[in-house]
Amino acid sequence: MAVEIRLVPCLSDNYAVILHEADTNTTVLIDAPEAAPIEKALDASGWKLTHMLITHKHGDHVEGIAPLKKKYGATVIGPRGEANEIPMIDTKVAEGDVVSVGNMKAKVFETPGHTAGHIVFWFEKEKLLFAGDTLFALGCGRCFERPPATLWESILKIRDLPGDTRLYCGHEYTLSNAKFSVTVDPKNAALKKRFAEIEKARAEGRPTVPSLMSVERETNPFLRPDHPDVAEAVGMRGADPAAVFTELRERKNSF
Ligand SMILES: [Zn+2]
Repeated sequence: MAVEIRLVPCLSDNYAVILHEADTNTTVLIDAPEAAPIEKALDASGWKLTHMLITHKHGDHVEGIAPLKKKYGATVIGPRGEANEIPMIDTKVAEGDVVSVGNMKAKVFETPGHTAGHIVFWFEKEKLLFAGDTLFALGCGRCFERPPATLWESILKIRDLPGDTRLYCGHEYTLSNAKFSVTVDPKNAALKKRFAEIEKARAEGRPTVPSLMSVERETNPFLRPDHPDVAEAVGMRGADPAAVFTELRERKNSF
């Protein structure tokens, strides 16, 4: 039986995601921004939370952990690199670890940049990538704890995942990201088309998450600093991709 997935909007623009595998009665939450909407989504489906996978330490990803653990007793799995700053972690994971939840398996990548200890979870069989605040639809996370060149190295670990992988990110930032993206990749016809689709989705109140990795590779400028059109658009033709990525990140910070 296929895995069921619920996208749960939390706080002002966060997303939590719930995976449910009926065969094993396993219910997995990815990130815990706040308990109430997650409990509501679980109750509506009649699911009991068994695991929480946490991408990083920020409050808008962890504040629901304690109340949800109190209610359901779920196992909390999170990044070893910042486990001391995340409440109630049972299992610490790092680069290359494989997390087993029911019959599902997720590979862990360490993706320093947004925070130093940030991790992402890749479910190869289910074709799902939970990227937290490392990679967004049409964007990437702000570099609070590591320089942009380090985030670029992190992103290279996940950029070439299969194109039919669905990207779930931590926030609904896509419209704002789209407005920026067209300024640094103005010749990209696929991006223009996607921008129009995103405007329509948001005007109708629909989420733009998940997206596909194939679409991100074609349209997300933060996956394309090594494309000549993007380098050219920021006046850095022939420059090192890490330097172009840094320029993109700095421009986005002040956009
Ligand atoms: Zn964050």
